[in-house]
Amino acid sequence: MISDYPELVKFFASKNPGQLLFFVLPLWGLALYGVERFGLSFLGLILGALYWTFLEYAIHRWLYHTHFKSRTLNYLLGSFHLYHHQDMGDRRVYNAGFGMIYLLTPIVLAPVLLLTRDPGVLGSLTLGLTGAYFFYECVHFLLHYRAYGSGYLGYIQRFHFHHHDRAPHKNFGNTSHLWDWLLGTYDARYKNYVMPVASRNSLITEKTQEALRA
Ligand SMILES: [Zn+2]
Ligand SMILES: [Zn+2]
Repeated sequence: MISDYPELVKFFASKNPGQLLFFVLPLWGLALYGVERFGLSFLGLILGALYWTFLEYAIHRWLYHTHFKSRTLNYLLGSFHLYHHQDMGDRRVYNAGFGMIYLLTPIVLAPVLLLTRDPGVLGSLTLGLTGAYFFYECVHFLLHYRAYGSGYLGYIQRFHFHHHDRAPHKNFGNTSHLWDWLLGTYDARYKNYVMPVASRNSLITEKTQEALRA
């Protein structure tokens, strides 16, 4: 789809988390208004962040990596993520865009509205959810930015790149291995992952150096 309709990239993807922030800010504004007006629910904040970690896993596993009977559905859902698997060096699709966020927000919040209508809890939950979501987008961008040896980014890069390079049906988490571990898709072999040259060359910093040398 990205090669058929390249202009759609502007709506469904962002170049970096800075551009994405522009689209997330209205949601933060709404959530902060709710919290300011009706009070902060600490539990709502934590549950919202936890809800995102599950969504991050669920969307990646059951939407992006599932083969549906409908060709159109496969075409639409697989276009950006499976394309990202095919070409890890195309930074246009590292982060979601305006269309993706505002299409998914009502779907994501609908089950919450069935459970509670308390505006304070809703505001806090949305704040936790969107905060964790933006953290995820920053992490995904940074993972494809440069190679990390140790620390949190080193661990999550090995986890995510093992999914990219060696096990596309394992390790769906992008910020932790929590849901992979709970739902049976955890592959511990990521601990021995060594980045191949092709993947290293797809990183933004490597590309910049390549461009400088050219
Ligand atoms: Zn990736
Ligand atoms: Zn994937």
